[in-house]
Amino acid sequence: MDDDDAVRALYLRVDPIPDAPAPGAGRACICVDVGDETIVALAEQWMLAHADELTCVRSSGCGCCVIGWDIEGPQAVIETLPAQVGTAGAWPSGEAAPKPRRFRVGGSLWTRFPRRR
Ligand SMILES: [Zn+2]
Repeated sequence: MDDDDAVRALYLRVDPIPDAPAPGAGRACICVDVGDETIVALAEQWMLAHADELTCVRSSGCGCCVIGWDIEGPQAVIETLPAQVGTAGAWPSGEAAPKPRRFRVGGSLWTRFPRRR
């Protein structure tokens, strides 16, 4: 009962991305196939057991075929993550990914073809 609520909260939890990893913190990505109940249960149990120690939890699964979280927490906690449910290391998204540059429509056109009288 209580665990169900806690799991639901975990699936809805999307903390803001920290500017930089906390000192001494490690990051990991949890990603499991929803069809594999054993692995899903393992992932949920690990998250329930350690959510309080994690400094950042971002639900990343789509919910229909994979579930998962990008997590950040003390290295010692991250190291206990079972290999079947995730991998320690940098997040696939976030600060490492370059943001696409916004092209301002019309802007460059006006500089290239200035109006002349
Ligand atoms: Zn899906």
